[in-house]
Amino acid sequence: MNFDYIIVGAGVVGSSIAYHLKNAMPDSNILLLDRNHTAGAGNTARSAALYRNFFSSVTSRMLAGSSITYYLGLGDKVQLDPIGYLWLFSEEQWANSQKAIGQLDPKKDKFEVLDRAAISDILRINHQAKGSFPDVDKGIYCRMCGSISGMALAQHYAAAFKSIGGKVSFDTDIKSFILTGQNSSYAPWDDIRVNGMVDQKGNTYHGKQIVIATGAWTHDLLAPIGIASCILPKKRQLFGLIIKDPAQLMVQKDSAKKPAVILPAGGVYIKPILDKNIIIAGCADDLGQPFMMSNPEPDPLYFHHAIEPVLNHYFPELDCTLSLKWAGYYDYHLPDMLPVIESVANLTWVGGTSGSGIMKADAIGRIAAARLRGKEEVALADGVKFKVSMLSLRDRSVEKEELII
Ligand SMILES: Cc1cc2nc3c(=O)[nH]c(=O)nc-3n(C[C@H](O)[C@H](O)[C@H](O)COP(=O)(O)OP(=O)(O)OC[C@H]3O[C@@H](n4cnc5c(N)ncnc54)[C@H](O)[C@@H]3O)c2cc1C
Repeated sequence: MNFDYIIVGAGVVGSSIAYHLKNAMPDSNILLLDRNHTAGAGNTARSAALYRNFFSSVTSRMLAGSSITYYLGLGDKVQLDPIGYLWLFSEEQWANSQKAIGQLDPKKDKFEVLDRAAISDILRINHQAKGSFPDVDKGIYCRMCGSISGMALAQHYAAAFKSIGGKVSFDTDIKSFILTGQNSSYAPWDDIRVNGMVDQKGNTYHGKQIVIATGAWTHDLLAPIGIASCILPKKRQLFGLIIKDPAQLMVQKDSAKKPAVILPAGGVYIKPILDKNIIIAGCADDLGQPFMMSNPEPDPLYFHHAIEPVLNHYFPELDCTLSLKWAGYYDYHLPDMLPVIESVANLTWVGGTSGSGIMKADAIGRIAAARLRGKEEVALADGVKFKVSMLSLRDRSVEKEELII
């Protein structure tokens, strides 16, 4: 049970870190562990499984853009389907977004601006405003966006990690940390380190370096040992709807353009799975939803109150029935909504993916592995160089991400 590195959490983030670290240090003895029975079974499995390169912050675009470059090479292995995104704006929202959109390059960032007529060529949508629901005036159709299985991606990294000699331990739930001396009181000059971790069966694990990649559980795990991770969980829910006829939603079912759609009201978005007559709908709710590990059950009332009226307004022809629902947790890093990679003594935590961890996991894994190896800079999958300290808390240098869904 003695390792050079122990990574706690085999979600998409921990699995990516494990692979990139072992790949860079083949002789090191690395353990990846998780309380679940397989990789990616935490919030990675509960996501909407969408990816996009369309973000307001340059850092987000670097993290997602380079990761997507890597995922495109994996293709079917991770069920990658480049369906695109269609981001819809009211006239007022479009005017207010001009500063942010003006910084993007349609060619480089691979998007096109659609007017009402072009939107109507794709969607059977009601453009008119009514009550709380604004008009639909413009759209941004993003091509470097689509759908990907987060779980398949986590399992890809975990399998690649194992294939180069990494060790994996599932059904291992870390319950507590053993700190140096385990005193009830420490002096500021004491050399405090994490000497070990204890699982649910009382087994002890020793690592020279400990990496915590536990996503939404990070705060609850680290706060008791005096670490303010600055990562907070918040519940998010998704609803699967069976649709009677895909033609009630998309003009051409077999068109190359059958994108995920972000509607201009209430942060509601849909992901079409038209060959199965299903759409997945979610909503970016905020005030009223606590920043804590709350009741993990999805709430159908929430669907009927916050999502259904929006769908009814914009897609009046759509005949759909609620058939599936699930909930998970975003792990937020407030206030900038970008990931955190920070260390105290021999413990490093990586999280705060704020709802976009799958689409950024490759870059996060490379950057965290570089930090653990003491590197200042790392090349991402597309060759772009990234300064590792930019995601730290102490020397943070990122712009706030505004496009959180
Ligand atoms: C409803 C919803 C929709 C989303 N949609 C998208 C999307 O479309 N695209 C996107 O990119 N992202 C999306 N996300 C966010 C995405 O799911 C996360 O950013 C990503 O999964 C984070 O990965 P992770 O590895 O940090 O966390 P997780 O996948 O949660 O992994 C953490 C792991 O740590 C383990 N763990 C925790 N505590 C312990 C412990 N004490 N001992 C042992 N193991 C432990 C857990 O079992 C878990 O497997 C969505 C999230 C939700 C909830």
